[in-house]
Amino acid sequence: MTTLADSIASLRSRIGAAARAAGRDPAAVTLVAVSKVQPEDRIEAALAAGQRVFGENRVQEAERRWAERRAAWRDLQLRLIGPLQTNKAKDAVRLFDVIETVDRPKLARSLAEAMAATGRTLDCLIQVNTGEEPQKAGVAPREAEAFYRLCTEECGLAIRGLMCIPPVEEPPALHFALLADLAGKLGLPVLSMGMSDDFETAVRYGATHVRVGTALFGARVSPERPPAP
Ligand SMILES: *Cc1c(COP(=O)(O)O)cnc(C)c1O
Repeated sequence: MTTLADSIASLRSRIGAAARAAGRDPAAVTLVAVSKVQPEDRIEAALAAGQRVFGENRVQEAERRWAERRAAWRDLQLRLIGPLQTNKAKDAVRLFDVIETVDRPKLARSLAEAMAATGRTLDCLIQVNTGEEPQKAGVAPREAEAFYRLCTEECGLAIRGLMCIPPVEEPPALHFALLADLAGKLGLPVLSMGMSDDFETAVRYGATHVRVGTALFGARVSPERPPAP
């Protein structure tokens, strides 16, 4: 049976191989373990295996899972990778270390207010809707520069990079290349792209953070429909 420590080790070696093949330093790529909806024992096993960087896509679920663990694991890094409502901005700023999904002026302003109110300064990424899908969050690529200026100049946010989720039915490489190109033009060092099925491609195109859920933890167990015993 493969243990969680084995899957983390195997992911790290695949990330390392993809980085070296692209002439990149494997240490320049961070594995973000996407722990949403995963059961407690898998979270504990990941922590025991040395994993410290986690991604969550809902504020309240992340609070339940991580608020207490934060005290026990001082070197944790929690990254919000899902859509954020402005009324949850303050909770998000209190819990997370990085917000990857800044995608509209109203949210940028709410985050700036929440950071001023809590005295915490979080690194942020702008989510770019590289496929311009109407149902998906993120700024359109042609709006990224103006939005970056609003975030930094008007709101004072520490924008470190860009994040994307390519359309499921398209090859991701073009989307990764587009995101890398945009980040290069804006002089931003962080690129959060690549998930279980395409993280090696993302590393080839310059990902600094790959967000991996199922390939690390196994299939997510639906809270509505638990598997038959
Ligand atoms: C769930 C999720 C992931 C991880 O997806 P897997 O296919 O399980 O690796 C990555 N990024 C975001 C934004 C997600 O919501």
